[in-house]
Amino acid sequence: MSARILDGAALAGQIRSELSSRAADFTRKAGRQPGLSIVLVGDKPDSQIYVNSKLKSAGDEGMRATLSHLPASASLDEILSLVHRLNRDPASDGILVQAPLPDSLGPVAMQQVFDAIDPSKDVDGVTPANVGRLVQNRAALIACTPAGIVELLKRSSIDIAGKHAVVIGRSDIVGKPISMLLLHRHATVTICHSRTQELSKVAATADILVAALGRPGFVRRPFVKAGATVIDVGINLVTDAAVAYDIFHEGHPRRGLFDRKGSVLVGDVHPEVADVAGALTPVPGGVGPLTIAMLMANTITAAEHRVGR
Ligand code: NAD
Repeated sequence: MSARILDGAALAGQIRSELSSRAADFTRKAGRQPGLSIVLVGDKPDSQIYVNSKLKSAGDEGMRATLSHLPASASLDEILSLVHRLNRDPASDGILVQAPLPDSLGPVAMQQVFDAIDPSKDVDGVTPANVGRLVQNRAALIACTPAGIVELLKRSSIDIAGKHAVVIGRSDIVGKPISMLLLHRHATVTICHSRTQELSKVAATADILVAALGRPGFVRRPFVKAGATVIDVGINLVTDAAVAYDIFHEGHPRRGLFDRKGSVLVGDVHPEVADVAGALTPVPGGVGPLTIAMLMANTITAAEHRVGR
């Protein structure tokens, strides 16, 4: 058996064309474009790549996206005063502070910055107010990756109600919110983490398995029940040939890519899982494009709510 591949890039394209008409509609009625403000602190190369693709996507969808780029030496006060300024800016409907902040700011700085964002502009779903609303199943702005996973399951006609969902990972940004969203859609949810015992046995009871742990190729065949839907959230840049070769067999196109470039993007799910799973998201081209599409959806939703108020 070979799993049906859930093409997140194609679904994201559909969603984005729907969003373009919502953005155009908003612009006609409000006399201005929906506005997304992105804050980037420091020069981490992968953060810059993520930010650039968010800026490009917002422009393509007919939104006004602006970048405030602070140096890695910026103080917490400087970041907080920028966030407060954006909270007051009437042209800014959504605020996204790219994680992570530089380590020099300390372990609690990221949460302090998230706490400062006006919840009505919190397009990343990271403020305590929006997390609380998510728990109560009444959130308008939900963390983008979990929202994208649910949209992908819905548009791929994969039933959630009554199914057993196992989520590997308990982060605030992926593991916990996707568990909550699946629960609200009537799945029976098990959350696993680094101290879960007999992880592969627990995972193998899942009808829907979400892998969000950040370990390349970690989820292998014994973790997966035949016919299960497997959602691979992981994005891991592998530069070690031994790891890449363990994941991609000789002749695999992605092994060829590694040999040419010296690095390759790998999910948390090993490709051998495609022989057992019923459906599987690829990396890249699975959950990632939906995450960006959901950021755009949240920005338009925030803009519509603010103008409607
Ligand atoms: P994180 O490091 O904050 O959390 C990882 C979680 O996995 C932790 O809760 C930890 O307990 C669990 N874990 C770690 N090792 C484990 C193990 N051996 N067994 C069981 N559980 C284990 O990571 P995150 O921010 O949730 O991201 C997870 C992955 O998803 C990363 O690869 C990240 O790059 C990727 N990601 C992708 C997108 C996207 O758009 N596709 C968005 C966010 C994160």
